[in-house]
Amino acid sequence: MPMTLFDAPEPLTNPVTWTPTRAAGLARLDAFLPWAGRTYTRDRNIDRGPDDRSNVSALSPWIRRRLVTEEEVIAAVLKRHSFASAEKFIQEVYWRSYWKGWLEMRPGLLRRFDADRRALAKTWAGDQRLKAAMDGRTGVACFDAWVEELRSLGWLHNHARMWFASIWIFTLRLPWQLGADFFYKYLLDADPASNTLSWRWVAGLHTTGKHYLARAANIRDNTLGRFDPSGALDEGAKPLTEDDPPPMPQALGEGDYVRERKTALLITAEDLCAETWVLKAEVTACAALNAPEAAAPETPSAAFLCGALTDGLGRAIDHFSAPGESLRLAEVAAWAKKSGAKELVTSYAPVGLTAWALDRLGPDLAAEGIRLVRLQRPFDRRVWPHARAGFFKLKEKIPQLLAGVP
Ligand SMILES: Cc1cc2nc3c(=O)[nH]c(=O)nc-3n(C[C@H](O)[C@H](O)[C@H](O)COP(=O)(O)OP(=O)(O)OC[C@H]3O[C@@H](n4cnc5c(N)ncnc54)[C@H](O)[C@@H]3O)c2cc1C
Repeated sequence: MPMTLFDAPEPLTNPVTWTPTRAAGLARLDAFLPWAGRTYTRDRNIDRGPDDRSNVSALSPWIRRRLVTEEEVIAAVLKRHSFASAEKFIQEVYWRSYWKGWLEMRPGLLRRFDADRRALAKTWAGDQRLKAAMDGRTGVACFDAWVEELRSLGWLHNHARMWFASIWIFTLRLPWQLGADFFYKYLLDADPASNTLSWRWVAGLHTTGKHYLARAANIRDNTLGRFDPSGALDEGAKPLTEDDPPPMPQALGEGDYVRERKTALLITAEDLCAETWVLKAEVTACAALNAPEAAAPETPSAAFLCGALTDGLGRAIDHFSAPGESLRLAEVAAWAKKSGAKELVTSYAPVGLTAWALDRLGPDLAAEGIRLVRLQRPFDRRVWPHARAGFFKLKEKIPQLLAGVP
C-alpha cells in the first residue's frame, strides 16, 4: 500500500543487531519496508555512522546467506510501494544478482584473484604501510574509523565501502586484491562476486578506464560533517590497468534436477533457506556443510556464518522432519552413503569457495554411487543471463523480470 504523509513510519531500531537467523532478517525487512520507497532514493547515499542505519536496509548479511531471499525482499517491497517509488531500492537488489551472473560467466577471474591475493600476501608480508592500513593507523581519520567499524561490526555503508576501497587503492597505493581480501575476511556479507567485482569497479578495471575517486568534499557532505579529509586524499589518480583482460563470458551452469523419490539434503552457506527450494522428493536426512570460508577467526563475520548455518539446519530439520547434523567436507560422502540415499540435493553454489568444495565432493559421492544434484533457483536462472555486459542491460530488463516475482 503506498504511504501517505499522514502515516509516516516510526524510525528503525538502531544500531542494527545482525542476529544470524531468518526470523531476525525478516523482522529487519519488515521494519525497513516503509522506508524502501522515495525516502531510500533520497537518503541512501548518506552514511550517518554505525549508530544510525535507518536510511538503508542493512539486510545484506541475511540476503548474502539467503536467510532472506532477493525474491522475498522484492515482493515485500512491491506490496508496500509502487515500482516507481521503490525502483532505486529494487535496482540495488538486482546489482547483487548482476555481479553474481557476471562472475558466473567468468569463473576464471575469481581463480586469478585467488592466486593473486595469495602471491601478494607473501610479497607484502611485514610491509608497514599495509599493516598500518589494516590496523587503522594511517592518519586519515575517516579511513581509520572505517577499519575499526569493519573489524568490530563486520559491516560498512555502501558509500563508505566505495571511499574505503578508493583510498586504499589511490591514496595509500596498496594492491586492490589485498583490500578485497581484507574486506572478505571481515564483512558479514562477504560475497565473492559483489566484493571482488566492486573492488575492480572502484579500481577502474570493470569498466575499463572508469574508476571511482573518493573526494574529500563528497565524504564531508555524505557523512554529515563527521569526517573531512581535505588535503589528505589523492583526488587526481589515474585508473589502474591490467595486462590480462577478464576472460570472455562462458555459458552459464544450468543446475540439475532430482530424479529419485527420496533424497539426502545438504545445505551450504550459499543458501540457508532450504524450506523455500523447489523440491518435491522426500528428504531422509539433512546436513549443513562446514566448508572452508574466508572469514577471519573470532570475528563477527565468523560468528554470523556459524549462527546462520545452525539456524538454516534447524529450519531444514523442522521443515523436512528429518534428522540433521553439521559436517566437514571430508565427512559428507560417508554420511550420504549411510543415509541410504542415491542422490544428495544441495543448492547451486555460485562461483566461490563453496562451489569449489562441491566440485571436490562430486567425485567422492560418485564413488559411493550417489549423484550430486545442484538445484538452481528460478530467480538466478532468469536474471544471470542478462549480466553478460554492463548493469544497464540488466536494469532495462527489470520490469520484465519482476513479472516472474510472485
Ligand atoms: C568495495 C565494495 C565491496 C562490497 N562488498 C560487498 C560484499 O562482499 N557483499 C555484499 O553483499 N555487498 C557488497 N558490496 C555492495 C554494497 O556495499 C552492499 O551490498 C550494501 O552496502 C549493503 O547494505 P544494505 O543492505 O543496507 O543495502 P541496501 O542499499 O539497503 O540495498 C538492499 C540490498 O541490495 C543489495 N545491494 C545493494 N547495493 C549493492 C551493490 N552495490 N552491489 C551488490 N549488491 C548490492 C544488497 O544485498 C543489499 O542488502 C560492496 C560494495 C563495495 C563498493
